Amino acid sequence: MLKHYTIPIFIPELACPHQCVFCDQRKIIGQDKVPDLKEVDEKIRAYLKTIPPKRSRVQIGFFGGSFTGLPMEMQASYLKVAAAYVKEKGVESIRLSTRPDYIDEEILKQLKKYKVRTIELGAQSMDDEILARSERGHTVAQIEKASAMIKSGGFDLGLQMMIGLPGDTREKALYTAKRIVELGASNTRIYPTLVIKGTQLEQMYLNGQYAPMLMNEAILWVKDIYLYFEETNIQIIRIGLHPSEELDSEHSLVEGPYHPAFRDLVMTEIWKEHLFENIEFKPEKSIMIYVPLEQLNFAVGHQSINIRLLENHFSCVKIKTDVKLIKRAFYVDYY
Ligand code: SF4
Repeated sequence: MLKHYTIPIFIPELACPHQCVFCDQRKIIGQDKVPDLKEVDEKIRAYLKTIPPKRSRVQIGFFGGSFTGLPMEMQASYLKVAAAYVKEKGVESIRLSTRPDYIDEEILKQLKKYKVRTIELGAQSMDDEILARSERGHTVAQIEKASAMIKSGGFDLGLQMMIGLPGDTREKALYTAKRIVELGASNTRIYPTLVIKGTQLEQMYLNGQYAPMLMNEAILWVKDIYLYFEETNIQIIRIGLHPSEELDSEHSLVEGPYHPAFRDLVMTEIWKEHLFENIEFKPEKSIMIYVPLEQLNFAVGHQSINIRLLENHFSCVKIKTDVKLIKRAFYVDYY
């Protein structure tokens, strides 16, 4: 099986005249300097050396700010550096993230020329009131228009969403997920909203105008969304913020459902529900549960929580792998 690698090039907020209430781009990516072309080239070269040449699919990804908000010539210079690697065959394609209101025909034409395959839009929500309260500076109609243009231009569409923005509810978050599927996205990222120091959201939080999600709440919302995307075959590239040193420090994160293993917590919850819905409890018996190899950690649960919960219903609980099992199939032996 081919392994996917993305060489991440972070271009901070330089291009962005907006100030979404939740964003301090420099703190989130732990970097505030815009890389020059030589640095980008060196980073790609160094990264490629760490990737096994066989059985690998490599993309270069421009993340961090709103790439297509950069001046056209600047976009072209960055893309030219990356496209040279696509031509040399070490890299399969280029991806980038941007805002829905920074897409037009001229931009798409240039991206096509430099072999960009995937365009990820920070949609964040498909509810106009949430977008307005988060001061995103664009509307749902703009997300829809940009998505349609990206699709008809022959690109892969990614739509990123956030949960827990001001005004968000579990129903609205699920609705956003549903619209992401309907708009034809092939991939997504799900980010729980965090209160970062120095942002407007911090002020809203301190003034009592915004209540961050509790960890458990965020896990349950994302669990529903994850299962929905899985069912509709949307690739979930990331759940939760990539841990960065700066965000881990007390100085950046003020409040909110941040956990370095957030995805594991969501998968643990999915397995907990799955096991508890399908297992017959027999307190006088012991149970052996067989699960797919790659699901073992999630079935056992973060810090073995699922085992400990099941132990309330059996005299002994063990979980083993069976390589013949796939997805989330499992079977049990009582003894
Ligand atoms: S558009 Fe993106 S980079 Fe700009 S403020 Fe909003 S989240 Fe930050």
